[in-house]
Amino acid sequence: MKYRSTRGKSTGLSFEEAVFEGLATDGGLYIPHSIPELNPAEIQSWATLSYPEIATNIFRKFIAQDEIPDAHLADIVARSFATFSTPEVTPLEKLPNVTTEQNNPALDNLFVLELFHGPTFAFKDVALQVLGNLFEYFLQRKNQNRPADSEAYGITVLGATSGDTGGAAIYGLRGKKNVDVFILHPKGRISSVQEQQMTSVLDPNVHNIAVEGTFDDCQDIVKASFSDDPFRRRFHLAAVNSINWARILAQTSYYFYSYFAVQKRVGSFEKSGARVQYSVPTGNFGDVLAGYYAVRMGLPIDRFIIATNENDILHRFFQTGRYEKKKTPTGDEQVKMTLSPAMDILVSSNFERLVWYLVRGDGRSSGPTAATPDAEDAKARKASESIALWMNQLKEKGGFTVPDDVLARGKELFTSFCTSDKLTADAIHRYYHHQFTSYPSPHYVLDPHTAVGVVAAEQVILTGTPTTTPTYTICLSTASPGKFPDAVLDAINNVLPHQPQSNHPTGFKPVTYADIAPSQLVALAGLPKRVVEVSTDGGDKHVGLKKVQHVVEQTVGFKFSSSK
Ligand SMILES: *Cc1c(COP(=O)(O)O)cnc(C)c1O
Repeated sequence: MKYRSTRGKSTGLSFEEAVFEGLATDGGLYIPHSIPELNPAEIQSWATLSYPEIATNIFRKFIAQDEIPDAHLADIVARSFATFSTPEVTPLEKLPNVTTEQNNPALDNLFVLELFHGPTFAFKDVALQVLGNLFEYFLQRKNQNRPADSEAYGITVLGATSGDTGGAAIYGLRGKKNVDVFILHPKGRISSVQEQQMTSVLDPNVHNIAVEGTFDDCQDIVKASFSDDPFRRRFHLAAVNSINWARILAQTSYYFYSYFAVQKRVGSFEKSGARVQYSVPTGNFGDVLAGYYAVRMGLPIDRFIIATNENDILHRFFQTGRYEKKKTPTGDEQVKMTLSPAMDILVSSNFERLVWYLVRGDGRSSGPTAATPDAEDAKARKASESIALWMNQLKEKGGFTVPDDVLARGKELFTSFCTSDKLTADAIHRYYHHQFTSYPSPHYVLDPHTAVGVVAAEQVILTGTPTTTPTYTICLSTASPGKFPDAVLDAINNVLPHQPQSNHPTGFKPVTYADIAPSQLVALAGLPKRVVEVSTDGGDKHVGLKKVQHVVEQTVGFKFSSSK
């Protein structure tokens, strides 16, 4: 399997090249030359497999045998998921129906798929545990064949985080041979759990840098370092951001796994003609894009609900066909801070991949195949031309509009809903306090990101046309509530107007952090930490850049001779 850029300039890359490069040199994202389609019998034969076996099968379809042989691939995948706290990796839980509508069977069939049982309690672990092991594997192989007297080849991973990505990257790369990882975070602007999680990792190859400034300042420093050619080449810079192809591929596995998990719970789908849909809290579109690949491989998912917070560029796109950055009344671009910070984005970086498929003529399934391989290739190039043009309009003019047919193909599979902070908090409250109402059933503690997805699922079901076909809705749960305790405790402990305290038979004792957080997160507060602080003379980016590059030089410069 080979890879090409969505913007058309580079094609024919190996999986390894696509993974190490991350972003293509033309600014595009890597996609496979084709998507392998499985027949229904093959898909069903995976139903009894373990999570790592399913994931290995998926990776196998997208990675050539001579790049990673079977036994090595199975080992990489098995080790990646062995760090999760349950052999199911992503367990499926049933939600109670806590809406006021008790006569809609679809609301009785809501599930959450818990993607947060990895080392950092957020869904990014699914992808970054695999990515760390892939890096290690490819580096080991590069080094096996080097002359005995030469230095080992190593890489320097450089990234910026607003919270979750940095932690997952650090836990995915800690202790990996020939990899050093530098993660920049805005000092004092990430949650204390996230800060403690990253800075308490003391492995010698992990380097946290707290930058005076905002997340955007950190991001700018990282981008400027990647554009600094001599610096990038000397330190063999590598990125792990959400556009990395290996991350998308790793995430495809939980769609297959959860589809089979629901099937097991409710019996065969064939007789009932059941439908399965997913509600996915979305920021950079990586999580839900993985589901799109699952569908294109043949998994019969009915549709995806794209759940956004008030940073709703994707929701607006599906309403209007226009993809446009949000501006303040004075014309400045603006990200709104919400209760679900991991989804506070201005543009959604992975969306470019979906649009490439839509413009090429694919929707739920692949569009008509061209008569010859050359004609197929011409079709791909034409799609890339549109993407390059639109991405330029996004940069220059702040947005672009797609033709009606492109939007229509998107709507074959996707619908969207934008959830406010108020509704998010309300949902956290309702699913917790349900246990005290007249229908006692187990409560569920939602993290704010998951709550955005659950609200979207409820709303789309409530406002849709009820059907007689059984519909199962799987809401992806992207973080443990213990990672975002302020929002969760606030929502649970504040009594909302429609939930009078008198509902509680025994009175209500406010919930504490220890009640909602895994013990490993509670224990973080007491651990020793290591972090380098970088001041920027009041946010001067050039000063910040120089100082960060100096830290990298001081820390790992001896491993990379300056003449290379
Ligand atoms: C990253 C993240 C998301 C958004 O995922 P995308 O792939 O960017 O759509 C949602 N929730 C949490 C907790 C996250 O860390």
